[in-house]
Amino acid sequence: MGEMEMMMRGREEIEMGEDLTRPLPPLSFSLHHSLLLSHCSSCFSPLPSSPLPPIFPPRFPPSNSNPKILYCSSQCSFSDSPLHFSSAEHHLLCLLPSAAAADSSDLRAALRLLESNPATRRSSSVSRIAGLSTNLHKLANDDEEEVAARIRDGARAMAAARRMRDRDCSGEESEGEEEAMAAAALCAVLTNGVEVQVKSGRTLGVAVYGGGGFSWINHSCSPNACYRISLHSDLQTTSFLPDHETAAMRIVPCCNKETQTESGVCSNIISVLSTKECGCSYGPRIIVRSIKRIQKGEEVTVAYTDLLQPKSVRQSDLWSKYRFICCCSRCGSVPPTYMDRVLEEISVVNGNSSSSDSGFYRDKATQMLTQYIDDAISDYLSIGDAQSCCEKLDHVLTRGLPDEQLERNEGTSLPTYTYWLHPLHHLSLNAYTTLASAYKTCSNDMLALFSEANENLCVAFDMSRTSVAYSLLLAGATNHLFQFEPSLIASVANYWVSAGESLSTFARSSMWRELIPLSSLSSIIRHNCLKCSLGNKYETGSFHSQVQYEDFAHVSSKFLDCVTDYMQKVWHLLVHGCNHLRVFKDPLDFSWLVTAKYSSMWEICSHCSSNNIGSNSDIYENIPLCEAQGCTTQVRIHLFQLGVHCLLYGAYLSSICFGKHSYLTCHAQNILDTVEHD
Ligand SMILES: [Zn+2]
Ligand SMILES: [Zn+2]
Ligand SMILES: [Zn+2]
Repeated sequence: MGEMEMMMRGREEIEMGEDLTRPLPPLSFSLHHSLLLSHCSSCFSPLPSSPLPPIFPPRFPPSNSNPKILYCSSQCSFSDSPLHFSSAEHHLLCLLPSAAAADSSDLRAALRLLESNPATRRSSSVSRIAGLSTNLHKLANDDEEEVAARIRDGARAMAAARRMRDRDCSGEESEGEEEAMAAAALCAVLTNGVEVQVKSGRTLGVAVYGGGGFSWINHSCSPNACYRISLHSDLQTTSFLPDHETAAMRIVPCCNKETQTESGVCSNIISVLSTKECGCSYGPRIIVRSIKRIQKGEEVTVAYTDLLQPKSVRQSDLWSKYRFICCCSRCGSVPPTYMDRVLEEISVVNGNSSSSDSGFYRDKATQMLTQYIDDAISDYLSIGDAQSCCEKLDHVLTRGLPDEQLERNEGTSLPTYTYWLHPLHHLSLNAYTTLASAYKTCSNDMLALFSEANENLCVAFDMSRTSVAYSLLLAGATNHLFQFEPSLIASVANYWVSAGESLSTFARSSMWRELIPLSSLSSIIRHNCLKCSLGNKYETGSFHSQVQYEDFAHVSSKFLDCVTDYMQKVWHLLVHGCNHLRVFKDPLDFSWLVTAKYSSMWEICSHCSSNNIGSNSDIYENIPLCEAQGCTTQVRIHLFQLGVHCLLYGAYLSSICFGKHSYLTCHAQNILDTVEHD
């Protein structure tokens, strides 16, 4: 990854939602250490009840009876065992103390890479292994001592493992040479490694890809492609065609600077690519897919970092992992794009006047708000105190963060400064994600502890709907940004599915039955929406057929129309009892933020918060939940149908970026099937 002098281009005109490559085999891969005895080291599938140990080759007699890794079948053991020993992976696992072994997947992938690419056995070529850039000179001689130390220690352990292996046969390299090659291989894995995420959404290990030009696909913060990992078992059980292996590659390599042939492709690269595919014949494969329409000859790019981060965070992330400065169109935009502006916009309110981003305070405000929000989130994730987390986050989102320290330092005569997060700031988006989950936890805790008392049921019900409201706000906020940045499609798919899951779970909750005796969902026919074609598309399976951009735009606008209708009927009920959420009249409509002068938004926020001060504490008391609050069976049905819409649209977006067999698509479909047969 990140080889700026090389790029991949579209070989032909490509629509959104099409596979650009066949499933490309890895050059090297390894399971995470914690999964070595629960998953097959060859195919990554969960192990059967009687797994097989590696086959010890004659020259490596078993030194102890405990195998370090396991396989699901004799076939897997047969294909992978030789490399397990010859790469010295086995020896590394014997050598490393358990604390270091836990973090050894990069080292093991590097050992395997080194062993299966003998062309690198020349110390002069450490800048490249199997065609992959190692970034060795940048990573190993860096100012950041932590990275350099990690590479030094890792290379030392790898070299020691290889020497241990070589005691049984003849060693070839000197000690220094061994360590230099080990460092290069490790850097190649750190620079080019891809997390192996599978259907469950879980990360199983790391893999390095080079074949098919994958390592030449550059990064962009506004990419037109994404990738997914496919395990051998997926390839067998899904509808991948038998001739999938020979499927056409729809992207071609190209040099940025060197002389090119007429077609824009370097002839020496064509010869490299046309030779037999390099890489393992097994292990997790990678498939690249278009998420935008790609013109013939246009560069194909993917994201190496989270696109919902502001420019400064993306840049420092890319620098620390890959040592390059991104010069993509989004990063280079002057003035910054709307999305990059709002993702890091903070307002500084000084007494009665307010100004946005006034330079001097901006760094300090960012630092303080980041710290505050991280602390609140860790209350929930580390300490398990969901309620304290919700209170803190709601508070900072609604009332901002006063800088009391500033006041003390510079004398009491100065007015108090308050720092406000933009509702689309990336910290705000993190906060919404956390709040959706934490309020749900609060509600469940409440039900588990006090299921008897009716007033507690009301509180649990309110917390549950606040959780639903935050997941809708998050989906609405990212969907708004998606209108400006189409490469957010994968994140948006995720958030719509989460919102849909949250809504349909809430609408089906037994709390309704207890609070509103006659409430029933039984009369709902799921796909009866006549206004949009989502349900119909889903039923007929035309969801997954080739997506034309015009079709996509049409489906999206119909979806938004329907969802806007439902939102008008339910939003004010969902936000009942939550000061912060009441700022938003409609979580799908952020147009007031685009057009408003910055200051007016803060006036709205402060207006809302000052109006409601004091009313929050007793909101749950003495107000029995009933039809008077508007929570009727009709509302319940609207919530349910809104949820189905979100799930359908999430599945639609997910099948565009990951295909119909991806985890997210299947997850959304499973929920839809469950609610249908309820
Ligand atoms: Zn296996
Ligand atoms: Zn960029
Ligand atoms: Zn509809």
